[in-house]
Amino acid sequence: MRKLITGLREFRTHYVSSHRDLLKHLAHGQDPRVLFITCSDSRISPNLLTQTDLGDLFVIRNAGNIIPPYGAANGGEGASVEYAIHALEIEQIVVCGHSHCGAMKGLLQLGKLEEEMPLVYDWLHHAEATRRLVQENYNGYDKEELLEIAIAENVLTQIDNLKTYPVVRSRLYQGKLKIYGWIYLIETGEVLAYDPTTHAYVPPDNQVSDLPGKSRDLIAGELPSIEEPLYPTYGGVTDTPNGSYGTGPAWLSPEQLDRIYRGSKVKP
Ligand SMILES: [Zn+2]
Repeated sequence: MRKLITGLREFRTHYVSSHRDLLKHLAHGQDPRVLFITCSDSRISPNLLTQTDLGDLFVIRNAGNIIPPYGAANGGEGASVEYAIHALEIEQIVVCGHSHCGAMKGLLQLGKLEEEMPLVYDWLHHAEATRRLVQENYNGYDKEELLEIAIAENVLTQIDNLKTYPVVRSRLYQGKLKIYGWIYLIETGEVLAYDPTTHAYVPPDNQVSDLPGKSRDLIAGELPSIEEPLYPTYGGVTDTPNGSYGTGPAWLSPEQLDRIYRGSKVKP
């Protein structure tokens, strides 16, 4: 607690004194441009990793960066999604998973959780599609690899869940909403972004086109967002659009990327 009190003092002395105009401006209302959904994990700081300021991100955090499907829970997640999109008119959503996610570890060993942490056990039911997809489609992988795959697939599961919200579907239909899937790598500080055309997580810098960014866009340039269809159907399982797996990030082996692609393909 001493550390927090010292921090409060330092915040007022250094940050507040040099950001008075911003704070005055924010006192009149907020106008965040991105809804950032991530895990409660203490090793993630949305503003720090995106180098954004107060007022830039509207944030939802919970164990496992989970958004329960519409009507499936009475928690704050749904209300926050509605508020962000309807009231704040946010047009960009980032769902950001992360490496070494404890919630995803728990998801892969649900039996243990039921007795020890029944509330976590219940909560993780909103990621059941992730668990089942990984269990039924990724045989022969070791524990660590399965965790990485679960983290990657869960971002996509939660994006699917987001799309069950009427306000989200309606804005997507109007072309006024973009959804991005990210994974933050704790060990390197890197972020990988899901590219729906290659079905792989790639460094977002590689996806930035020369299109000028809109002033309201916090996400640089025009990253490919995840729009319908999230899981396009390709002719063959071994199809590798643009041949991009082999050149994927070191974080996921070509085999894993291929599995993520194939795992995704079993979705409707
Ligand atoms: Zn986590």
